[in-house]
Amino acid sequence: VKWSLVIHGGAGAMERRSLARADDLAGRAGLANAVDAGSLILASGGTAMEAVEATVKVLEDDEHFNAGRGSVFTGDGRIECDAAIMDGRQRAAGAVAGVTATRNPVSLARSVMNDGKHVLLTSAGADAFSLQAGVPQASQDWFATSHRRQQLEMALTAPNGGFDTDMKYGTVGAVAMDRDGHIAAATSTGGLTAKRWGRVGDTPVIGAGTYADDQAAGVSCTGSGEHFIRLALAHEFCARLRLTDDSVDEVADALIGELTAFGGKGGFIAIGRTGEVIIRFNTPGMYRASVIEGQGKRVAIYNDEVI
Ligand code: ASP
Repeated sequence: VKWSLVIHGGAGAMERRSLARADDLAGRAGLANAVDAGSLILASGGTAMEAVEATVKVLEDDEHFNAGRGSVFTGDGRIECDAAIMDGRQRAAGAVAGVTATRNPVSLARSVMNDGKHVLLTSAGADAFSLQAGVPQASQDWFATSHRRQQLEMALTAPNGGFDTDMKYGTVGAVAMDRDGHIAAATSTGGLTAKRWGRVGDTPVIGAGTYADDQAAGVSCTGSGEHFIRLALAHEFCARLRLTDDSVDEVADALIGELTAFGGKGGFIAIGRTGEVIIRFNTPGMYRASVIEGQGKRVAIYNDEVI
């Protein structure tokens, strides 16, 4: 089996004329670094799980993306991260929501999975588990960037009451297939700027923003999380592959159409069980990159770029 890796750094309103050149270059460099980290693992015979965790960690540490360092602020000026990881071999999964002090939330999600008792931990409990699991901690100051603070100030004074309707802030995700044909998926986010009331999006909801099943596909989503939850999009993708004769491309086309008809904005990446690499989105741009064994890596942002 040829290994493959596909990643996203968020879908949204990015257009050539609106995205500053420096942000375009930084976005592409960040995606390339992340793909390289995952490729190194897959090329040396590592597992899809190791690859998606390592890839997402690079994007979490990169302040240009809305995950880990560089996460968006909640309405009351805090950082609350969500993340999930799933192993397609036995459909083991781990997820965390509203964590405030874990440097790499995706690694905490993996610790939840490895611990094996639970699938989803939230807020103070997840922070406590993080300490007990011994994953690296970071202060709120470490996550915070002045750029995101400005975005919060803009959101709070916006006429719509502050919700981040553009969703251009760069949730991250990765799906990989390793040389043994196993699939894994991981997603990580700071959520939406100015989110309130303990709001949790699709990212850590297994079956909504993240899902992996060796018998079907691995999927990671980004966009208006509430729509992805209502469509159970990542699981729906896998279920249709198992239950219909539709190809991976047909399922992807149908679901991006349904997301649009539903009023949802965003996109998803996937790898089908026979190695098809899929990227779909209905926004002007999506930070994305992919690599298949034996082929060069491809990196793109705008919707007119073919990868
Ligand atoms: N899906 C994420 C959420 O709703 C946001 C994003 O993808 O940008 O939390």
